[in-house]
Amino acid sequence: MSQQPTSTLLYLECSICGERHDDRIPQTTCTACGRVLLARYDLEAAQRTFSRESLAGRVASIWRYWEVMPIRDCASVVTLGEGMTPLLLTERLGKTLGMEQLFIKDEGSNPTGSFKARGLAATASKAVEIGTRKLALPTAGNAGGAAAAYGARGGLEIYVAMPADAPRTMKDEVRAYGATLDLVDGLISDAGKRVAALCRDSDWLDIATLKEPYRAEGKKTMGYELWEQFDGELPDAILYPIGGGTGLVGMWKAFDELETMGLIDSRRPRMIVVQATGCAPIVRAFEAGATRAEPWVDAATLAPGIRVPTPFADDLILDVLRQSDGDAITVDEDAILAGMREITATEGIDACPEGGALLAGLRELVASGRLDRSARTILFNTGSGLKHPELRLEED
Ligand SMILES: *Cc1c(COP(=O)(O)O)cnc(C)c1O
Ligand SMILES: [Zn+2]
Repeated sequence: MSQQPTSTLLYLECSICGERHDDRIPQTTCTACGRVLLARYDLEAAQRTFSRESLAGRVASIWRYWEVMPIRDCASVVTLGEGMTPLLLTERLGKTLGMEQLFIKDEGSNPTGSFKARGLAATASKAVEIGTRKLALPTAGNAGGAAAAYGARGGLEIYVAMPADAPRTMKDEVRAYGATLDLVDGLISDAGKRVAALCRDSDWLDIATLKEPYRAEGKKTMGYELWEQFDGELPDAILYPIGGGTGLVGMWKAFDELETMGLIDSRRPRMIVVQATGCAPIVRAFEAGATRAEPWVDAATLAPGIRVPTPFADDLILDVLRQSDGDAITVDEDAILAGMREITATEGIDACPEGGALLAGLRELVASGRLDRSARTILFNTGSGLKHPELRLEED
């Protein structure tokens, strides 16, 4: 891989106060203000080798975007072939909505069956690079499985704290990959407290969503892929089932990097988030015009990926929604299930409940005129339906 161009990573920068941090040692949040750290690159240097033409011949994974990935030595990369997922035009589904340009990006085809693979591949690689061997995280389900798989692949120790009522498949996979599974009586926020306490008095590193800077770098590759798959353009609208917001914040960052490299102009997709009526802290804050989200009490939904009552990066998420002329909408549990089954049966794309939530949200948005039917629109099917055997069919 010696002909690989190099990473142009410079340092980590606080998203709020701008304080710089060294990426060569373990980092979590800003040491000055406690907020989210983001990786910054020398994009002028990156621009010299980064183009659609130069990308064409590269490896079909997130690692094709080498210049804007946070790993300095390619020998550190821990990969299972994550990324470069199919972007599928859904003619049948589109017709039911009167939309001619409705696409599903099928993230269920990632290793471990969800887009969490992208983020955890980046985190595991960075850990190998800087010699951190013990990673701990709270999860609603999928991030735990992905962390465990990349931990096995990279020879890292992984500690996963997960709600005890998470899907069976997600608990089993963590154990199957050889990680430690700590079942918590509560939600991902309770699991987060457990992990924070563990990491405070030990050598475990807390890699909770956006409390470390690299998962967002892995997930931002969804933005680069859309740009490549649309031949150098971006879609008009992106619907995203939001939990902690890594993918949303990451894609928005990718678009900014592309513009700085002179590869797109200043137009952006409308970023639209969908949450469940039983757990909608971001939708509530967006509707109230707030800059921060209040914790959601008694969060409940059958879609684990969006059962996140206290997203740590609420300020960044809300900022993206405002800057993009975005929107935010809730859907109920019946609509989530119906959406999941409809995507699967209509298009042969094995949808997860979070993907189903997006179809339900889209229906409401176009019916009420909040989204134009002619918009080139992306739904992210963020995981595979195979992880939810109990939801796939109506009980008889
Ligand atoms: C984690 C997850 C989400 C939410 O993603 P974020 O980037 O954390 O907001 C959505 N769907 C699925 C299937 C997930 O596992
Ligand atoms: Zn700061």
